[in-house]
Amino acid sequence: MPELPEVEVSRLGISPHITDQVVTKVIVRNGRLRWLVPDEVQLLVGQTVKAVTRRAKYLFIETQAGSGILHLGMSGKLRVVDKDVELVKHDHIDIEFSNGKVLRYNDARRFGSFLWQQPNTTHKLLMKLGPEPLTDEFDANVLFDQSRGKNTVVKNFIMDNHIVVGVGNIYANESLFKAGIDPRKPAGKITKKKYAELTVHIKQTLEQAIKQGGTTLKDFTQSDGSPGYFAQELLVYARTGKECLTCQTIIESVKIGQRNSFYCPSCQG
Ligand SMILES: [Zn+2]
Repeated sequence: MPELPEVEVSRLGISPHITDQVVTKVIVRNGRLRWLVPDEVQLLVGQTVKAVTRRAKYLFIETQAGSGILHLGMSGKLRVVDKDVELVKHDHIDIEFSNGKVLRYNDARRFGSFLWQQPNTTHKLLMKLGPEPLTDEFDANVLFDQSRGKNTVVKNFIMDNHIVVGVGNIYANESLFKAGIDPRKPAGKITKKKYAELTVHIKQTLEQAIKQGGTTLKDFTQSDGSPGYFAQELLVYARTGKECLTCQTIIESVKIGQRNSFYCPSCQG
């Protein structure tokens, strides 16, 4: 499943090809995605793309008439191709531009979405989202204040989109390891000082992933259009049974909210 860094790299990849271009056609071959693609997406035709922006894992193709919202779901991929490039299986949507390029959406499992947002409004799916992790709005106070009195385990707490968006499973595991916090600890029992460390590590882990993904950008318009999971240096994720890189204790794993969770019993208190 594409996580926030992959979505941000997709944004960086497609943005230079379609910004300032006029949409000439929107072709929806199969609109039965997670939600039925609304007819309003045709309002993009004739509009100039002002910018490609991101909120959580949603990408916005912004125009004066409104924004097309794309979400990659579990298996969605975006490519920028020339108009005459042949279709492959699961190429469900084409957005054509005046420069002859096409933004092509492929999604085998169809858990992704293509929605519409009117100007100066917020789509209902986006109304209750927490702050973006890479902005100043996300700091230790957010985690500390929201967690008081909560028994939710901290790993689930930081993966909750209402608290902060975009902290996927890999990034939650890695950030908690770096901050020395046991993923099973109740969120309400963690000090502000520890949350300050965790906040820094969440930001750094995501930023590092985006930076690493950026190095694959030159291939974005080729291959399968998927920036994929970047070759990241993972300190704890999927390292069950291996030695902790800090203290040589054996890394353990546990399921938390159905998600695989990895931790060092010695470093993470
Ligand atoms: Zn350790």
